[in-house]
Amino acid sequence: MLELREKIVEKLKRENNLSYDPSEILVGCGAKQSISTALMALTDKNDEVIIPSPYWVSYKAMAEIAGAKPVVANTDEKNNFKLTIDDLKKVLTKNSKILILNSPSNPTGIVYSEDELKEIAQFVVKNKLLVISDEIYEKLIYDGKKHISIASLGKDIFERTIVINGFSKSCAMTGWRVGYSAAPKKFTDVFKKIQANTTTHTSSISQYASLAAFDLPQEYFIKNAKTFEERRDFIASWLDKRTELSYIKPEGAFYFFINISKVFGKKIKDTVISNDNIFYSKLLENNLVAVVPGSAFGNGNFIRISYSYSLDSLEKALNRIGDFLDACK
Ligand code: PLP
Repeated sequence: MLELREKIVEKLKRENNLSYDPSEILVGCGAKQSISTALMALTDKNDEVIIPSPYWVSYKAMAEIAGAKPVVANTDEKNNFKLTIDDLKKVLTKNSKILILNSPSNPTGIVYSEDELKEIAQFVVKNKLLVISDEIYEKLIYDGKKHISIASLGKDIFERTIVINGFSKSCAMTGWRVGYSAAPKKFTDVFKKIQANTTTHTSSISQYASLAAFDLPQEYFIKNAKTFEERRDFIASWLDKRTELSYIKPEGAFYFFINISKVFGKKIKDTVISNDNIFYSKLLENNLVAVVPGSAFGNGNFIRISYSYSLDSLEKALNRIGDFLDACK
């Protein structure tokens, strides 16, 4: 719908300092489809897609489905898992084509600063890469930090970036399936050809709902972020008391990436907890709390928990995790 694309253009200008024409916006069935379409359009068989680890679970699969080669760029826990130029240099080859960047990040919740993004942008431009910048969590950001879109850092990087966003996280509209890409016309024109032959578009009903979401007052987003920040602080103070756990303090999104490696080697009943998968399955079986094993995000020393629940539910879940940890001997 042109009206929706026009609203998105206004939003990108107002909030992200990005200038697009409505023809450069493509609305799809969630950010997921938008990323997937971009990867299909922009990669050929031997092209490599650089994915910083820990990564959101779907990026690797999406690159593979597109027929490209996902290449994981390991990042350092001591650097809060933030991607550095050294990390990038280690994986750069003549086939490197795309870097996927996700700030705020799922699973770590880290947020890249303007200076960090500038360095990455310079590297991307110098090495003629493209960036898929997944900004789906931009509204959930804490401690007064500000989301910066890498595409806003200059003409050269703008021309090499595909900005991804949507309504799933900012407006809690996950089930409506609306996401979008914003990219120079030469890219968007190809994305359109792919989408026209796959889903055509997300339902008109969902597009009207997204149009209505633009009427939400600014206070809605501020209140929402505040609620999540309270939950983050609540979980952080609980985690601080558990000496067997360490974590990356999230600055955005709604996840904690928790290092459980100190628990490895302990026993729960008769089972030795030797990895994240056993930790997760025994926690679920014994204490009925679902977490995600970190290996799904590329690091098996961790689990990821989500705090998109009420404080009451979170308190219950943390108490149960505490009971589980106390029972590990
Ligand atoms: N990108 C990231 C980093 C996510 O965590 C998710 C959902 O979990 C998505 C994209 C998918 O968003 P959508 O519901 O718009 O497809």
